[in-house]
Amino acid sequence: LLAIGGAAGGIAALIPTAIQAVGSWQRIESLLSYPDDQPVVQNAMPMNEPLSRVALRDVSFSYVGDRLNLDDVTLETPVPRRIALVGPSGSGKSTVINLLSRNYDATSGSVVLNDTDIREIDDRSLFSLIAVVNQDTTLFDGSIRYNIRIGRMDATDAEIEQAARAAEIHSFIVTLPNGYETDVGEGGKLLSGGQRQRIVIARALLRDPKILLLDEATSALDAEAEAAINDTLARVTANRMLFSVTHRLSSCPDMDLICAFRDGKLVETGTHDELLARNGLYAGMWEKQSDISIANAGQDVAISVE
Ligand code: ADP
Ligand code: MG
Repeated sequence: LLAIGGAAGGIAALIPTAIQAVGSWQRIESLLSYPDDQPVVQNAMPMNEPLSRVALRDVSFSYVGDRLNLDDVTLETPVPRRIALVGPSGSGKSTVINLLSRNYDATSGSVVLNDTDIREIDDRSLFSLIAVVNQDTTLFDGSIRYNIRIGRMDATDAEIEQAARAAEIHSFIVTLPNGYETDVGEGGKLLSGGQRQRIVIARALLRDPKILLLDEATSALDAEAEAAINDTLARVTANRMLFSVTHRLSSCPDMDLICAFRDGKLVETGTHDELLARNGLYAGMWEKQSDISIANAGQDVAISVE
C-alpha cells in the first residue's frame, strides 16, 4: 500500500528514513497507521461504496529497464471470488500482488476497483480494504497483543481477540500464563512457525479487509501446519476477495478461478476442471505435483510396512 524505492505514489516521502531502512514494505505497511486528521495523498479520493469488482486492465509492468515482468495482463472479477495465482518461479505472481496492494504502480494499464483506478483512491481507503499475508512471518519483539494490534493501531482489545479467534489462535493464546501479554521473543522465536503465521493472519484480519492477498502464505510451514492453516484460511476468506499465490496446488480445486502465469503473461484462466481439460500449463503442473505426492505416498506406505 506504500510505494517505496522509486515506485509511484506520494507517500514514500512521508515515511521516516529509519522505517524505509526496514526494507520490506509489508513491515512498513504494518508500522504505519494513518492519523484521521491528515489526508496522506493529495487529490486521492476515499472509496466509500462497497467493493463489487476488481480488474487488471492491460497491465504491463517492469521493475527495471525494458524487461516486462508483467506483459499485458487483463483480468476482471466480481467480488467476492477466490482466485489462485499459479505458475513457475519468476512468472510474475508476486508482481500481481505488488500491483494489487499498490506496492508498485503499473507501468502501463491500470488496476481498477469498481470503476476507480487504484491510483485515484486514497491510501487510507486502500489500507482498510486490502491486507497482505506473505511467507515472511517475522514478528516484532513485544507482546502477542501488540503484534496483532499492528494491523490497526486503534483496534480495541475485544477486536484483537475477535481477529485471533478468526485466525484460530485465541484458544492457544489463552493457555499461555501471560495470555495476550506474552512476549513473542525477538522475531517471534518463542512461537512455532504455524503460530507466528496465525498471528500474522490475525493482524491482517483486524482490518476486516475486503481483499486479502496471500503470497505463499503457508510455504514456510511443514505439510501438517500448512493443512491446518489452509483450513483456517478457507473459513476466513469465504466472503472476501482472495488472491492467493501458491506453488502447492492442493488448494486449487476449491478455488473459483485459477490464473496461470508464464514469463509475465497470463496464459490460462479457468476452474481446476477446465484447466485440466485444457491440458496446458496448469494441467502439467498439476500432473507433476500429483506424481510427486503419489511417489511420497508410496514411500510412506513402504516405510510403515517395514
Ligand atoms: P513469482 O512470484 O511468480 O515467482 P515475481 O513476480 O516475483 O515472480 O517476479 C517476476 C519477475 O520479476 C522475475 O523475473 C523477477 O526476477 C523479477 N523481479 C521481481 N522483483 C523484482 C525487483 N524488486 N526488481 C527487479 N526485478 C524483480
Ligand atoms: Mg513470488
